[in-house]
Amino acid sequence: MQDYHTHVPGSHGGYLCSVTRADWQRVAKAEGMIPCFGVHPWHAAAEDAAELAFELDEWLARYPNAAVGETGLDATATHAATLPKQRTLLHVQLGAAFRHERLAHLHGAHAWAELLDILRQRARNGTLPRVLLHAWNGSHELARSFLDLGAIFSVGLRELSHPRAQERYARIPADRLFPETDDHPENWDRTLALLALIRPDFIRK
Ligand SMILES: [Zn+2]
Repeated sequence: MQDYHTHVPGSHGGYLCSVTRADWQRVAKAEGMIPCFGVHPWHAAAEDAAELAFELDEWLARYPNAAVGETGLDATATHAATLPKQRTLLHVQLGAAFRHERLAHLHGAHAWAELLDILRQRARNGTLPRVLLHAWNGSHELARSFLDLGAIFSVGLRELSHPRAQERYARIPADRLFPETDDHPENWDRTLALLALIRPDFIRK
C-alpha cells in the first residue's frame, strides 16, 4: 500500500504533493514518489493564474507520470478572503489535469459542497478529470455524490480518529478509500492500523 497524499517523501512511496510552484523541483526529484504539481489554496494569493497555467502544462508534459496538486478550496475563516482567487486557480489546475489525463488532489476544508458543485458542472461539460479528495471528512451522503463522479478519497490519522469515523468511512467502497499521512510520515503505521480496524476489508500490503 502506498501513501495517497503526502508532502514529505516516505519509504512507503506514493503521491508527493507540492504546495507552491517553488516546490515543484523538489517534488519532481524525490525518488520513489509520484510527483504532484500544483498550488495549494493557502498560497493562492501569491500565484499568477496565467503563469500557473503555462508552467503546469509544461511540467505535466515533461513528467508523464506526474499528478496535479495540491489544489482545491479552503473556506475556513483564515483563508475565505482569497476564495475568488482560489476558484480561478482551481479551474486552471482541474483543466490541466483533464487535458493531460492526470489525477487531481483536492483540499476542501469547509468547502466540500462547493467543490461538489464545481465537479458536477465539469462533469456536465465533459471536462472532469479524475479527482482525489484528501483528508476527507464529509458525511457518507456527500461521499456518495462524489463517488458518482468517480472520486477517490484519502484519510489520515486525524480523520480516522474522529468519533464519526465509522459512519463516514465504513461504507465507502474499498477501491475508493486510501491512507494518507499529509505532513506526518511518522503516522504511517498507526494510520494503516486504524484503517484496518474501521475497515476489515482493508488489506495492508
Ligand atoms: Zn496536503
